Amino acid sequence: MERHVQRVRDAFRTGRSRPLEFRLQQLRALRRMVQEREKDILAAIASDLSKSEFNAYSHEVLTILGEIDLVLEKLPEWVTAKPAQKNILTMLDEAFVQPEPLGVVLIIGAWNYPFLLVIQPLIGAIAAGNAVIVKPSELSENTANIVARLLPQYLDQDLYVVINGGVDETTELLKQRFDHIFYTGSTAVGKIVMQAAAKHLTPVTLELGGKSPCYIDRDCDLDIACRRLTWGKYMNCGQTCIAPDYVLCEASLQNQIVQKIKDNVKEFYGENIKESPDYERIVNLRHFKRLLSLLEGQKIAFGGDSDEATRYIAPTVLTDVDPETRVMQEEIFGPILPIVPVKSADEAIKFINEREKPLAFYVFSRNNKLIRRMIDSTSSGGVTANDVVVHFILSSLPFGGVGSSGMGVYHGKYTFDTLSHYRACLLKSLKTESTNKLRYPPNSQSKVNWAKFFLLRRFNKEKLGLLLLALLGIVAAVLVKGGYY
Ligand code: NAD
Repeated sequence: MERHVQRVRDAFRTGRSRPLEFRLQQLRALRRMVQEREKDILAAIASDLSKSEFNAYSHEVLTILGEIDLVLEKLPEWVTAKPAQKNILTMLDEAFVQPEPLGVVLIIGAWNYPFLLVIQPLIGAIAAGNAVIVKPSELSENTANIVARLLPQYLDQDLYVVINGGVDETTELLKQRFDHIFYTGSTAVGKIVMQAAAKHLTPVTLELGGKSPCYIDRDCDLDIACRRLTWGKYMNCGQTCIAPDYVLCEASLQNQIVQKIKDNVKEFYGENIKESPDYERIVNLRHFKRLLSLLEGQKIAFGGDSDEATRYIAPTVLTDVDPETRVMQEEIFGPILPIVPVKSADEAIKFINEREKPLAFYVFSRNNKLIRRMIDSTSSGGVTANDVVVHFILSSLPFGGVGSSGMGVYHGKYTFDTLSHYRACLLKSLKTESTNKLRYPPNSQSKVNWAKFFLLRRFNKEKLGLLLLALLGIVAAVLVKGGYY
C-alpha cells in the first residue's frame, strides 16, 4: 500500500495534475471512457445489482456525463483566483483567493450505486487538480473490476490509481497518509475512517446514511405523494442512501396510503414483480437475512414475500409500527416501508428531532407554510418537499449529511470546493512603507488610536469615498513619519 500511495504522491509532486488544460484533458478522457465503454460498464453494474441496463444508465451513467459536462464548462471560471475586498491599509496591494489542489485524495465507495459513488467524486478531484486513489466497494465486485481495468486505459496511470480489496486492504490503505479522504458508506465504518484520518490530521468528507423520514400531511395530493414515494422507496430495491426510510402520518391516512402504493407498485412493476426488469435484488445474503429479520412481529399491510435463492424481497409496507421495534432503530436500506402514526405535524417534528439527524427529509403537503415550518424546525442533510430523492440530481445543491448522516458536501462546484484549499494571498506593495510605522515598535497610545480608526471604524463608502480614506491614510503616514506621534 505504501508503495502505491508513494507512487501517486510522487506523480502529484511533478505538478502535472495542476494546469487547467491537463485537468480538462483528463476529464474529456474520462467522458470518452464512459461513452466508449458504456456497454461494459452497464453490464458490470447490472450484474452486481440485478439491474436492467436502462436503470444502470439512468441511475449512474447519466449523472456522471452531466457532471463532466458541467465541470468542463465551468472549470476555467472555478480555477480563477477571485479578488478579495481590501481595507484602507491594503489599498495598494493585491488580495485574492486562489484555489489550489489538496494533494492525494482517497475515495472509498459503497456498493449501492457502485460506479457513480466513486466516479462522481473523482470528477471533482481531478477538476481540483488532485492525484487520486480510488477504492471501490468489494461487494459490487464486477463494477470494482471494470473501474480498475478501464481507468488506467484512459487516465494518467500514476496520478489516478484504483486499488481493489475488502476490509483488510482498506484498513491497510487507511494507515497511509492522505491529504483528504472522501468516504461513502455506513455510519459505523465512517467512524473507523475518521479515526484513521485523525492520526494524520487528514480532513474527511463522510457521505453516510441514516433513517430519512417522510411526513405526509392530511392536506396533500395523496395520489401524487404515493406515486413519487413508491418510485423513490423501491428504486434499486430500497438500497438508496436517500430513500425515504419511513412514513409519518395521521393514523387515518394509513389505509389509503397502502392502497395507493399497492396500485403504483402494480403499475410500475406489473402483476409479477419478480419478472420485472425494473425491480432489483438485495445485494447479498447477509443483507437479505437482515431485512427479513426486520419484518418479525410487524403488521405487513402489503408485500412481505421473498425468495432466498434470488435474494428477492417484494415491495413491502408495514402499518401501525411501534417506534421502539428494530425496523425503526436502524437504517432499513431495503424495500420495506414502515408507517408510524402521529397525531399532527408537531408530533412529527418532535419525532424527527428526538432521533439522529437524517440524510434527507421529505414532506408532502399543499400547505407551503407548513412545509417551511417543518424545514425551519428540523435538521437533515437535504430536503425535498412534495417529492423524494430528486434534490440529489440538482448539481447546484450541496449534497451531504449532517450529524450522524455525515459531514462535508459534494456535487458540481461543491466537489471542487471540498477538494480544493482556498488559499489566502496578499501581494504587498513596496510603497507607503511609512504607514507601516503604525505597526512597528515602539507602540504608543496614539498608534493604537490610529489603528483603531482605520481598522475598526465602519466607513460608509457611499458617503465617504475611498479617496477620502486614502487622504486620511496619507495624513496618518505624514504624522507618524514626522515623529509627531
Ligand atoms: P460497503 O459495505 O460497500 O462499505 C463502504 C466502503 O467501506 C467499502 O469500500 C468497504 O470496503 C469499506 N469498508 C467496509 N468495512 C470497512 C472497515 N471495517 N474498515 C475500512 N473500510 C471498510 O457499503 P455500506 O457501508 O454497506 O454502504 C451502505 C451505507 O452507505 C448505507 O448506510 C447508506 O446509507 C450509505 N450510503 C451513503 C451515501 C451518501 O451519499 N451519503 C451513498 C450511498 C450509500
